[in-house]
Amino acid sequence: MAEKVLVVGSGPAGLTAAIYAARADLDPLMIEGMERGGQLMLTTEVENFPGFPDGIMGPELMDSMRKQAERFGTRIVSSDVTKADLSSRPFKVWVGDDLYEAESLIISTGASARWLGIPGESRLRGYGVSACATCDGFFFRDRDIAIVGGGDSAMEEALFLTKFASKVTIVHRREEFRASKIMSQRALDHPKIEVLWNTTVEEVLGDDLVTGLRVKNVKTGESSTLPVEGFFLAIGHDPNTNIFQGQIDLDPSGYIITDPGSSKTSVDGVFAAGDVVDHYYQQAITAAGMGCRAAIDVEHWLNQT
Ligand code: NAP
Repeated sequence: MAEKVLVVGSGPAGLTAAIYAARADLDPLMIEGMERGGQLMLTTEVENFPGFPDGIMGPELMDSMRKQAERFGTRIVSSDVTKADLSSRPFKVWVGDDLYEAESLIISTGASARWLGIPGESRLRGYGVSACATCDGFFFRDRDIAIVGGGDSAMEEALFLTKFASKVTIVHRREEFRASKIMSQRALDHPKIEVLWNTTVEEVLGDDLVTGLRVKNVKTGESSTLPVEGFFLAIGHDPNTNIFQGQIDLDPSGYIITDPGSSKTSVDGVFAAGDVVDHYYQQAITAAGMGCRAAIDVEHWLNQT
């Protein structure tokens, strides 16, 4: 028999949707993905999630949300969805050869920060390397740090980081920013911000903590060391929507389009929540709020069909 509601993805959006759906007696099934818990599993301490005045480790927060979802009866499959067919109801979702069918679907597969893939980057993730200035900037009070990227995110995050850091170096691979004029100018005018133009980051240096970056000027080919204690990436995010491509309306960047003020997608009975929809706020708490809305939308939708 088809599930009443199937949740795909297990970050704050998916788990909050599961908690609400389970408490509404919808007996949800969640396919949590191999990277269960989403991006918070890659962070260290989370200090801005309300309710934890002393902070909480990202993985611990996600484990607690998962336990809460299970407490109300959410059943969890710990694999990745490999294929989906949204062309008719019940919707079909495959994990390898295993087929799951559902009357309604909540997609909360999130987005993944882009990484450079250079030596030292993944080893020092959480130890001076971060893809989230809002989450981790606070830990770099009075330190020299660097951020790579030339878009609006890089500008916004560089400006945010000046609140803490003694100096912020933006490392950009070209000689002009992609960011809007106003954001670029704000960054360029800031006394704590310096820019290394035409420069790529080749390696993150440090044994247990970041001590610097090996950078290369792409015009001269010259390599040098930039001594910093923090390295932030702001080179964009990619929504995890490959399996739904061509079946549901996506914006040009691949994010799922929802009706304004709702979690409804272009496919009746399919709802979406969290970073897979939202490329702007990208916070655990905003994703959780969207997950709550999706569960409530599903409940109303099931009552009406
Ligand atoms: P983005 O606009 O795609 O910019 C990504 C930046 O990272 C680009 O400058 C790009 O360089 C650089 N980059 C990409 N891959 C790289 C690599 N492998 N090595 C080195 N550099 C690399 O992404 P975003 O800044 O995250 O912004 C996403 C969207 O959100 C945009 O539409 C943006 O306007 C919007 N946004 C708006 C605001 C705001 O209005 N306040 C704030 C944040 C984001 P190139 O320029 O050379 O390609």
